[in-house]
Amino acid sequence: MWQGPSAPDAVYLDSAATSQKPQAVIDALIHYYTKQNANVHRGVYTLAEQATEAYEGARKTVAEFINAPRPENIIFTRGTTEGLNWVAQSYGGTHLQAGDEIIITIMEHHSNLVPWQQLALRTGATLRYVDIDDSGVLDLDQFKAMLSAKTKIVAVTQVSNVLGTINPIRQIGQLTHAVGAILVVDGAQSTAHMPVDVQALDADFFAFSGHKMLGPTGIGVLYGKMSLLAEMEPIEFGGEMISKVEKYHTTWADIPWRFEGGTPNIAGAIGLAAAIKYLQGIGMAEIRAHEEALTQYALTQLKQVEGLTIYGPADAQQRGGVIAFTLQGVHPHDLATVLDTQQVAVRAGHHCAQPLMSRLGVVATARASFYLYNGEKDVDRLVAALNETKEFFQV
Ligand code: PMP
Repeated sequence: MWQGPSAPDAVYLDSAATSQKPQAVIDALIHYYTKQNANVHRGVYTLAEQATEAYEGARKTVAEFINAPRPENIIFTRGTTEGLNWVAQSYGGTHLQAGDEIIITIMEHHSNLVPWQQLALRTGATLRYVDIDDSGVLDLDQFKAMLSAKTKIVAVTQVSNVLGTINPIRQIGQLTHAVGAILVVDGAQSTAHMPVDVQALDADFFAFSGHKMLGPTGIGVLYGKMSLLAEMEPIEFGGEMISKVEKYHTTWADIPWRFEGGTPNIAGAIGLAAAIKYLQGIGMAEIRAHEEALTQYALTQLKQVEGLTIYGPADAQQRGGVIAFTLQGVHPHDLATVLDTQQVAVRAGHHCAQPLMSRLGVVATARASFYLYNGEKDVDRLVAALNETKEFFQV
């Protein structure tokens, strides 16, 4: 399944933070920088036209990958964080006022939480949180009861980066639209791991990051419905995003270019397109099936480690390949440090989800996360290392 450069020696179980890169992506970056390097949208010479074609071709590749109606629905960003901030600042800034409500969930990553908190503070709108049940599943009854004519924005992650929970985005979208609000989806943990169809989900905005899906860092995507993008003011002003500049007045370029001020991350977009082609070569449904089976295997194996608490749904069908856990008597940071001495790389901390940590009653957890290049032997190494760690700490 995996054709990468020689992988790190460690058992890499931190793909929810960032993924490894296949050779095809590295080659695409080298090809651009050695054979096609020029700025886009400006030059009339052949090389600049080739660079523009590659950059705009990447937009088309992204659009097809998430089934956006047109390439123009795709805005290149730095990553999920930037996309969500832009929606909050630009769309939210002009569409919300005191008395309006924004609904998010307690499982949100800070990237889909702090922008809404700040928007609420700025506009006088109220921020409300949908809770989870004890298994880490969203409380949809509470969400339904929270919705009203006051609701203007619902922002929710498709997959939790801690609990792994897969949220029913389509259903959440139907409920959201029924009260006239818009749905913003954080796709950081889903787009890399399962088929995503923004039209079937009926998402109004959908943000994700290239680096979590085999692509380079510094490139991401904000998808928006055209009617909503048309209501959004540009965020950054300068070159590339204008139609005509006069001394005291400027008109904007068409959508999406009006949102991409300055020289864009050309290489990043080309690298992301190569990553998408690589993923498509394997098939997103196949990747999801592989990860679901691996997650189920991991849940079964980890359950046998005494003293381990696992967070999130028990059934792999309901979750992505992310497993957060704590070991009784051992701080998660110490746990990750000792696992590292056994060449097992897992994350430890609050995972940029501090309100969720409070809800779970912990300050931090360890987290193992999987991708297409992981297999059962990686899980076995994790379990063996956990048992060694228990001996080390005598817990
Ligand atoms: N949302 C979720 C659910 C995430 O897991 C992450 C990355 N950890 C982000 C948003 C932010 O992504 P980025 O740092 O690439 O902007």
